[in-house]
Amino acid sequence: MTRRKVRIMYENLLANVPTDLWIDGKWRKSSDNQRFDVTDPATEKVIASVASATVEDAKAAVDAAQNAFAGWAARKPRERAEILRKAYELTIRDAERFAKLITLENGKALSDSRGEIAYAAEFFRWYAEEAVRNLGQISVAPASGARIVAQHRPSGVCVLVTPWNFPAAMATRKIGPALAAGCPVVLKPASDTPLTMLALMPILEEAGVPPGVVNVIPSRSSGKVVSTMLHDPRVRVVSFTGSTEVGRKLLHEAADNVVKSAMELGGNAPFIVFDDADIDAAIDGAMIAKMRNMGEACTAANRFYVHEKVHDEFAKKLTAKMSGLKMGNGLDDGVALGPLVNAEGRDKVIELVEDAVKKGAKVLTGGKAPGGTGFFYPATVLDNVPDSAALLNDEIFGPVAAIQTFKAEDEVIKRANDTEYGLVAYLYTKDLTRGMRVSEKLDFGMIGLNRGLVSDPAAPFGGMKQSGIGREGAHEGMMEFLETQYVSVSW
Ligand code: NAP
Repeated sequence: MTRRKVRIMYENLLANVPTDLWIDGKWRKSSDNQRFDVTDPATEKVIASVASATVEDAKAAVDAAQNAFAGWAARKPRERAEILRKAYELTIRDAERFAKLITLENGKALSDSRGEIAYAAEFFRWYAEEAVRNLGQISVAPASGARIVAQHRPSGVCVLVTPWNFPAAMATRKIGPALAAGCPVVLKPASDTPLTMLALMPILEEAGVPPGVVNVIPSRSSGKVVSTMLHDPRVRVVSFTGSTEVGRKLLHEAADNVVKSAMELGGNAPFIVFDDADIDAAIDGAMIAKMRNMGEACTAANRFYVHEKVHDEFAKKLTAKMSGLKMGNGLDDGVALGPLVNAEGRDKVIELVEDAVKKGAKVLTGGKAPGGTGFFYPATVLDNVPDSAALLNDEIFGPVAAIQTFKAEDEVIKRANDTEYGLVAYLYTKDLTRGMRVSEKLDFGMIGLNRGLVSDPAAPFGGMKQSGIGREGAHEGMMEFLETQYVSVSW
């Protein structure tokens, strides 16, 4: 296709994307008519202007959700399941359109966006299957002989707050289980990437989701809008994915009305390569764990600990792979590395790399932002990274692999655990006994053992320590939106 035809195709795609607030099954302007711009990180051009929800709009969205609650909760589980199943099919039908939209607003390479939308759709399919498995329990009270009937009821209106790094999947991972449980939701997407969720609303409507069950309110006043909703007594759940810093604030806010909180927060993943590892497999795993989404993932490998005996081979092979990645506009063919989401994200990576190099790290490839248009940063490998480098403690959120060596198992476990985070750890060894022994000593909610990817709708995703509270995906994901009620019965 010629460049001109490609441009026209994208202009058409954007022309059809809704940009207002989705409340009670209708598109609305914001109550004060304010809007904000969405920018393509590859070209730095404004691609859309989106309505910015006010506190009044947030109240209207909670009203709509509350009004829809009883009807949605009363639907038979099978009906909810079939609507979710339809949402899965329609999302897959339109996957290519969604993938392009994700790349336009987030910057990630089209291959990453295609992976994301397929993963996002899977949450609808998985929770279509879980909607019919809301199992309770019945038992006999040991002392009184009364019956203990325990069942799970939908919690009520849920506020969902999502980040920009996976504009589709972080939202469907919440919408799927909430709807399966029988809850209505108000979603506030990230301001950098609101378009994907707005574009999903006609799909949910077509799938049969009734008005008010899913509401989407992008807003430039996130703090005020979310706080208003968390102080509304009708809101019973907040499910947040984002930084630990904002997660802490929301936990404080949620405390006022004792709102049930699920928090998927930051990570600082260690990637451990033992001396008996299959190095080629470890390199493949490292490329996924580090480079999926250009490193802009809470699950991104942040610290590489490589046994000193295999260090040279690992560093050489990783450098070769990283330097072979094509960087450019994520929409272009063959591009594996798009721009980072915004100037702030790119500048943070520049700063972290400069700090490490100043303190003695050696640059094996990359290490310098190209300048010019777009928030690009090249695939970078840093070796001999000193303990004092800030990037060993902070989430890099960019395409930078920081390598250190280790000698002994106990030593690397201690170093891997030496972080406030506990989301995911990766380890490579051919000895599965060692793999399981080490896994059990790592304080992380998820372990990739000879795997560089752990995300799976059927698995409980979530972190220990300051990486979060609660789990998404699997059966556990639906429990976040259910309340257990026990009835003590004599009969
Ligand atoms: P963020 O700055 O914490 O923002 C996340 C969301 O919170 C956005 O919608 C944002 O809105 C909103 N927000 C910001 N300040 C707020 C406030 N005071 N009150 C209420 N809402 C507020 O995170 P991000 O930069 O978008 O995403 C990157 C972070 O997400 C990383 O730390 C990453 O590790 C984490 N993450 C975690 C997981 C996980 O599953 N554990 C998955 C993906 C990402 P605005 O966009 O309008 O500011």
